[in-house]
Amino acid sequence: MKIMVAVKRVVDYAVKIRVKPDKSGVETQNVKMSMNPFCEIALEEALKIKESGLAKEVVAVSMGPSNCVDTLRTGLAMGADRAIHVEASRDLVPLTVAKLLKKLVEIENPGLLILGKQAIDDDCNQTGQMIAGLLGWPQGTFASKVVFDKEKQVATVDREVDGGLETLCLDLPAVITTDLRLNQPRYATLPNIMKAKSKPIKKFTLEELNVEIKSDIEVVQVTEPPKRKAGVILSSVDELIDKLKNEAHVI
Ligand code: AMP
Repeated sequence: MKIMVAVKRVVDYAVKIRVKPDKSGVETQNVKMSMNPFCEIALEEALKIKESGLAKEVVAVSMGPSNCVDTLRTGLAMGADRAIHVEASRDLVPLTVAKLLKKLVEIENPGLLILGKQAIDDDCNQTGQMIAGLLGWPQGTFASKVVFDKEKQVATVDREVDGGLETLCLDLPAVITTDLRLNQPRYATLPNIMKAKSKPIKKFTLEELNVEIKSDIEVVQVTEPPKRKAGVILSSVDELIDKLKNEAHVI
């Protein structure tokens, strides 16, 4: 079985986000970019499945500007066998990413497609569900545990839902999106970073895949969250109760 993993390049989770002065989006110039953390978990899961002998190849795919190649090299250094980059000069909305993934699935024919549950830049949490819909494949979203049965060609997925765990059994091929507790992604070692330099990255253009960048959604503006007021130190519990009652009106 071949596993395809979608990895997105995003502003690093530890960077303090700055909004552009014209409020058109978030500043990405001279900002550290990394693989989306949920995509690292997706890739780790694919590598673990391969290492357990249940898959033969892991293909990492990314869509976006030319520096997505850096993210793909990180994926190759973690252990992906090869990578595919779909070059696009603009940010892509989830539906466009899902349509591109569908084209790549038709070319590559994977038995499993793994994505992060959400990208930490747009927080959309849509792409996995959309690609499953476009392909007509079963989906196990927010996976916190994945177990394969090679003979029956099914994947059992635990999902953390309100108040407990839901267990789903998916016929393959299927789409899985990863939650935080699924695994702990590995670090790329120096020898693997060196090896990754010679692993192949195939390029496609949007025209080659015949997918138009078209969005029915317009970002009106992006603003920073309101500044929090400074805290105050109170001298007694009575004073606290008084403030909660008479200022915050919560008791
Ligand atoms: P989202 O629906 O935007 O929150 O993204 C969910 C997941 O879809 C991400 O964790 C990735 O696995 C995948 N994804 C979204 N955008 C891209 C992209 N431009 N390139 C590769 N994968 C993507």
